[in-house]
Amino acid sequence: MKLPDFESFEPFNDLREKMGAELWTMEESFDERLHISLYEKSVLDTDYLLLNMNQLARDADYRLRFKNANVVLLEDSIFHLAACSIVAKKEGEQKLSWKIDNQKVCIDCLHQMNYEGVNLHKTRRQIHNEKISTQFNLEQYWKKNPNFPLKSRKITIF
Ligand SMILES: [Zn+2]
Repeated sequence: MKLPDFESFEPFNDLREKMGAELWTMEESFDERLHISLYEKSVLDTDYLLLNMNQLARDADYRLRFKNANVVLLEDSIFHLAACSIVAKKEGEQKLSWKIDNQKVCIDCLHQMNYEGVNLHKTRRQIHNEKISTQFNLEQYWKKNPNFPLKSRKITIF
């Protein structure tokens, strides 16, 4: 049986308009495999989620991704913004968040993302690299590079 296309069915569209209801497409409706839940969002905002490495992916620019959000991976003294060489070796559960305490950004991540010209292979960049990593501010970074909600993009699974 062929179903009518309700999106082009005049009485339906008139009624929808009167109700002020917006038409949702499949992409916009909530899918727990692709979208973080309100609970996950509130935990990322205030604390951290314990996630297995196989729940994470990376964006084309190497930023760490959980569903439709970029996240950072927390360690005791540093945090990772990207799938750097250290993160690539991690296994099992890790702490993922949107906020940090006193951790410093991982310089390997900045190198991986080519952030502001950070390059660990060029010794003459050492002072520049240190300056950029010392000045790195996660909140400002998120403001310039919104981390949620992200559209589906090309991602790579770990
Ligand atoms: Zn790192």
